[in-house]
Amino acid sequence: MPGRTDRRVLALVVAHPDDDAYGLAGTVALHDRDPAFRFVLVHATDGGKGDIAPGFPATPETLGAIRRGEDARAWRALGRVPDRHEWLGYEDGGLDAVPSDELVERLATILAEERPDVVATFGPDGITGHPDHIAIGAATDAAFHRCRQEPGPGFRRLAHGAMPRSVFERWNESRARRGLPTWDPTATYHLRGVPDEEIGITVDVSSVVPRVVAGLREHRSQQHVIVDGGVTDEEWARSASREHLVIAWPPTPPGAARLGSVFEGLVVPD
Ligand SMILES: [Zn+2]
Repeated sequence: MPGRTDRRVLALVVAHPDDDAYGLAGTVALHDRDPAFRFVLVHATDGGKGDIAPGFPATPETLGAIRRGEDARAWRALGRVPDRHEWLGYEDGGLDAVPSDELVERLATILAEERPDVVATFGPDGITGHPDHIAIGAATDAAFHRCRQEPGPGFRRLAHGAMPRSVFERWNESRARRGLPTWDPTATYHLRGVPDEEIGITVDVSSVVPRVVAGLREHRSQQHVIVDGGVTDEEWARSASREHLVIAWPPTPPGAARLGSVFEGLVVPD
């Protein structure tokens, strides 16, 4: 692990394989030659209860293992694999039934070992309202705040992946134009946006976006959920070229400028 003075450790905690395929993958790709960068990835479930793309050769019995393999291939396709990848092994769709103390404890154990500078996860909207997303996001927040009380490096920023409302509205207009049903932000499993002014970090990942799309493409069992039918690589690249996050901690002063990277502005102690 890089020394304390120059470390840039990022931890991403998500619920399912493919949650990690967009939203932060471009950020990871941007740091692929940075020797101070370390990337820790945590999946709470293997996504074994997910829908299976029509015609895809998987069964409910094999899907979890297949999705773990897809996830590994996706990071290889992106060109920067996680330095550490933990699977917590919970049942897909069941995270909100796991005692939150247990979930927080397991996450805190990993986070305390790594002491990431930045921890990213889902916010209370879960981006799609998925109860697994909301549960893992809340547990990660609690683990972050528990760990940051202990002396040592890291735990400088907690961030929530999010979709700015303006982007959400543009997507919905585009769906309506193509005759597709629009997202209802009050419905579970539908996308939703947060007010644009709540976005604290927007990372321009357009220089690495073909690699992000290559990673997305590896989640073959989920192609029908990840992307609308008929979307071209070009359209996909456009929608994946910016990564947006809300800064959940520390509090940012009102009117603070939006940051351009998850590590921007962090004080590096001696
Ligand atoms: Zn998910």
